Amino acid sequence: MLRKVLIANRGEIAVRIIAACRELDIRTVAVHSEADRECLHVEMADESVCIGGPYANTSYLNISAVIAAAEITGADAVHPGYGFLAENAHFAEIVRDCGLTFVGPPPEAIRLMGNKSAARAAVSAAGVPILPGSKEPLQGRSEALRLAGEIGYPVILKASAGGGGRGMRLAFDERELRAAFDTARTEAERAFGDPSVYLEKYLERPRHIEFQILADTHGRVVHLGERECSIQRRHQKLLEEAPSVALSPEQRAEMGKAAVAAARAARYVSAGTVEFLLSEDGSYHFMEMNTRIQVEHPVTEMVTGVDLLKEQLRIAAGERMTLPPRKAVPIRGHAIEFRINAEDPDSFAPSPGVVRRLVLPGGPGVRVDTHLYAGYSIPPYYDSLIAKLIVHGKDREEAIVRGRRALDMLRVEGIQTSARLHRRILDDLDFIEGRLDTHFMARYLREG
Ligand code: ADP
Repeated sequence: MLRKVLIANRGEIAVRIIAACRELDIRTVAVHSEADRECLHVEMADESVCIGGPYANTSYLNISAVIAAAEITGADAVHPGYGFLAENAHFAEIVRDCGLTFVGPPPEAIRLMGNKSAARAAVSAAGVPILPGSKEPLQGRSEALRLAGEIGYPVILKASAGGGGRGMRLAFDERELRAAFDTARTEAERAFGDPSVYLEKYLERPRHIEFQILADTHGRVVHLGERECSIQRRHQKLLEEAPSVALSPEQRAEMGKAAVAAARAARYVSAGTVEFLLSEDGSYHFMEMNTRIQVEHPVTEMVTGVDLLKEQLRIAAGERMTLPPRKAVPIRGHAIEFRINAEDPDSFAPSPGVVRRLVLPGGPGVRVDTHLYAGYSIPPYYDSLIAKLIVHGKDREEAIVRGRRALDMLRVEGIQTSARLHRRILDDLDFIEGRLDTHFMARYLREG
């Protein structure tokens, strides 16, 4: 097993990784920026190293500082969490070349899936349905126009190297596509250092359904069911649930099989997520694969009883995953995750500052993953996610009722949070009846 894991991350996910390491008797090293001396992950880890200044590019994204911290402390593995260096193939390669274990997939799999058009081609060759569109990055505007003419409008241009909901441009007709093409390339170059873009059919009212997979070095690849992530604002997920009301057991089995095939096509190892768009007619198409543990992993943990972080650590150590050798992992009940962000629930402007008072809900079926404590000063430099409130019930109805009462019992004073917005979503009739698609929030905010 691993002896000592350096966590190249901060906040709630660093605390979550420390919890998993503790249960496996693995020592932990926290790294932190000068702005994060008081962050909970630093206190909870066995050791800590300051690796740079407040801005992430001088600390959490500074590869040599992270590697130096691992060497100084004698760590034998690095867990990247999500964000920061988690999907940086170059970083994973350096970790490997330094003789350390990367708690994640091989760099080759990160690289393949990080190039969205290459990923499309690879999974399509493995028989996974993809949306009609370009299989290679587009050579020029005329190729884009010709392809769009063939598959029909609307279409979406995406940066091959894109991620985080950025670098996407919609076009409803030829005129819009002409204008969008150059803008998309310029934006892609600026944001990701690579101007290549590809094109696919744009679906008008899809659901975002993603499958959790686990793959070990012994050749076993399993899926752990889906997460419904259609509640998004500007392509950023706000609330996730498992399972999705939209899938029948047959459809779950079929999409799960496709997710496993996608992972196999990338020779994937570790925990990963295969994202699909599900249309109203029940057809589904591969969108991308995320080669990391995700923010929303707890809903899957709640309905499967599998500790994904512990499995990920065991797999990194070369062990077999501990899931019983059955055909499908059983799903029990229903779970919902609310992302609690330090932001104004109306304007969505960030709301950093000091947490004056904190009351976390508990009781049956409630879990909170957070790095908050009363008196903590949330720095303005990082992502606004400060807590994840997760509820589990015997069915969706109970999970919703439990979500309402848990949100009502949550007190975070001194800053603004998105909790109130979640509380309102739980009273929305479309939400209650499970009528969801990726434009739910846009409609909701216009009406509300
Ligand atoms: P990122 O990696 O930047 O998150 P994704 O490819 O995962 O980008 O897309 C993010 C979101 O954009 C999806 O959840 C969905 O809401 C929307 N989206 C992406 N592609 C399409 C498409 N072809 N049709 C409709 N919506 C799309």
